[in-house]
Amino acid sequence: MTPPTTVPALDYKSFPMAQLQCETDTGIETVPLALEVAFSSWQPSIPERYWTMEATELAERIRAARATLGKRVVVLGHHYQREDIIQFADERGDSFQLAQYASQRPESDYIVFCGVHFMAEAADILAAPHQQTILPNMEAGCSMADMAAEADVHAAWAELREAFGSTDDIIPVTYMNSAASLKAFCGANNGVVCTSSNAGKVLEWAFQRGKRVFFFPDQHLGRNTGHAMGIPLEQMVLWNWRLPAGNLGGATREALDRSRIILWQGHCSVHQRFTVAQVEQARARYPEAKIVVHPECRADVVEAADANGSTGYIVKYIEQAPAGSVIGVGTEINLVSRLAKEHPDKTIFCLDPVVCPCSTMYRVHPAYLAWVMEELVAGRVVNRIQVPEAHKRDAKVALERMLALK
Ligand code: SF4
Repeated sequence: MTPPTTVPALDYKSFPMAQLQCETDTGIETVPLALEVAFSSWQPSIPERYWTMEATELAERIRAARATLGKRVVVLGHHYQREDIIQFADERGDSFQLAQYASQRPESDYIVFCGVHFMAEAADILAAPHQQTILPNMEAGCSMADMAAEADVHAAWAELREAFGSTDDIIPVTYMNSAASLKAFCGANNGVVCTSSNAGKVLEWAFQRGKRVFFFPDQHLGRNTGHAMGIPLEQMVLWNWRLPAGNLGGATREALDRSRIILWQGHCSVHQRFTVAQVEQARARYPEAKIVVHPECRADVVEAADANGSTGYIVKYIEQAPAGSVIGVGTEINLVSRLAKEHPDKTIFCLDPVVCPCSTMYRVHPAYLAWVMEELVAGRVVNRIQVPEAHKRDAKVALERMLALK
């Protein structure tokens, strides 16, 4: 049997509405893999017996495998994972925090990263040589990271070298949400990696070493960080990687000459959905509300909010708010739903009430987790993520430069 290539017939009357509406205070129910409308574009090479298993059976299997494997396995759950995955996570957090956590658990030979591809790569870069990193669904990528292909970044770098005569004064900075090959590119070119919590510090470091920063893949994090540092918008130029080489990424020569930050035209499909109109609607509905958003949101949304920061920052912001607080949040729905449940004394809501989960994070269905764990019990490693040694070496250099800033 091959995986379904057309949308399976669904009974919409009995279909769990939470999966369609993604309301803040309801979880996203797990349906069998074969009923997932997008299963045909997920990793098909999962044995058929997992396709029809219900959430309860999958949970029992994962639990049993965990018990057998003990500390030989560490399961990591990114904040944006669904509850049916998060319940098995030894640690939950953002990508860098999780990669570091796993590297500090040498007793765990296997790192099962419930997140997306670049996160598992980061864990593999930091892992000890005996640790093997596993991504439950190999099709769990990140649309933002995919917007910066290695060849496109190299082509843009070559064009910048030609335009300026040299790249000595340009410091490449890649957001954590990028392929290992781009972290390696930064390591090899006097550049650095940043996260959404240290982007300001990283840019300061970069400006001590060069006139300009070449920032990828998220234009919004780059722009919001530059803006917070007082860099005017006209000194931040957008590089459209979709244009053929020879077009300076759509920028004029004058704009490039006055630029301090060259922003890759990438974005997060989840965070770019938030709008100023949603912030205004939230304030109209709850005049006392505080609004906190992720810096992957557009600059006007960040400007309209009361606060902005990484997922870790948002979690703390809500934890530290006094009981009775009303907080509108601009980030992925799984995290907002969890925070709403964990803080019943506060009103926590998503700025976009019908926002759907990150579709690639969602691909880590419990069936995939059950499969990779049961394979480990059977002594087989499937879905291993292995960063080539040369990339690992250079990417580590870029990550160590970032770590030295703390
Ligand atoms: S939320 Fe955005 S940046 Fe994060 S994995 Fe999904 S698409 Fe990528």
